[in-house]
Amino acid sequence: MTERRRDPITGQWRIFATDRQDRTFLPARTECPLCPTLPGHPSTEIPEPSYDVVVFDNRFPSLMASPPAPSVMRTDLYEVEPAQGATEVVVYTDEHSASLGDLSTDRIARVVDVWADRYDQLGRRDEVAYVFIFENRGEAIGVTLHHPHGQIYGYPEIPPVARLELDTALAHLGAHGTCVLCDVVARERADGVRVVARNRTFMAYVPFAARFPYELQVTAHRHATSLLDLTDPERHDLADLLRTVTRAYDALFGFPLPYVMSVHQAPTDDGEWLAVSHLHVEFTPIHRTAEKLKYLAGSEIGAGAFINDTSPEQTAADLRAAVPRSNLERSLACP
Ligand SMILES: [Zn+2]
Ligand SMILES: [Zn+2]
Ligand SMILES: [Zn+2]
Repeated sequence: MTERRRDPITGQWRIFATDRQDRTFLPARTECPLCPTLPGHPSTEIPEPSYDVVVFDNRFPSLMASPPAPSVMRTDLYEVEPAQGATEVVVYTDEHSASLGDLSTDRIARVVDVWADRYDQLGRRDEVAYVFIFENRGEAIGVTLHHPHGQIYGYPEIPPVARLELDTALAHLGAHGTCVLCDVVARERADGVRVVARNRTFMAYVPFAARFPYELQVTAHRHATSLLDLTDPERHDLADLLRTVTRAYDALFGFPLPYVMSVHQAPTDDGEWLAVSHLHVEFTPIHRTAEKLKYLAGSEIGAGAFINDTSPEQTAADLRAAVPRSNLERSLACP
């Protein structure tokens, strides 16, 4: 069964993909399907002896170009649709034990170029309304493969979190005549207390009302609507700040910090959202200390009201102290 069902109570579409239960789960290093194919060994997903960045269709897709018919009949109350869309895997490097922050800025910029290209290509498809680039990192987040990689989903409608942000930004535009993220970036630049690192094009800060301890947003200073809207030097600046942020995360507690990374940008079906689509990358690590995790519980799951046990101004200071020195100096030298 692979299909989309609409929850009539919240109006949200949910995806069902039961075949994914059998997907490869934490294989031994020698069995890694994302490593290059070695001479004389069985072929992995990537039949090359070495590579930089590779994109391919997820072998266990939850959304697809030609999905099967739904397993149940649609009624007025219970809407069901085929799971149309796309799911792709982006492998960052052929080095099994590396992570995004281990790569050079030039190499990360190649990953950013690939993201921008897939945003363009998937966004052109009729069945895709929103391209979502993300990475799940660490066993605590539930990754099933350790090899450094991220994913791209092409959803047939704007997914709930992006929709909520866009609707809120639209209300802000109506009330103030400005883009809310343009206002947020200006305010963070002026306040400074929650800023962790910055360069010419992007700024990394702990959000004023962060959901998670050590949550970060990496946001373009200017109103860039998507990765496609960035010039080459701006993409390089994004790569630079992604490198700084992920290295700070790994230095924070002395181990690779598990997180979810989400790229939020403009929906791809029409231009009506451009005035309120402001490119940003969200990092949500789930640790609140080296040993303790932030679990989603009653208030978060049952009521949707996040309770944060840390102060965003303090976690920003902690993260600033974890930024590698060379990056910090460059960052302070920036306007
Ligand atoms: Zn591998
Ligand atoms: Zn903006
Ligand atoms: Zn967002």
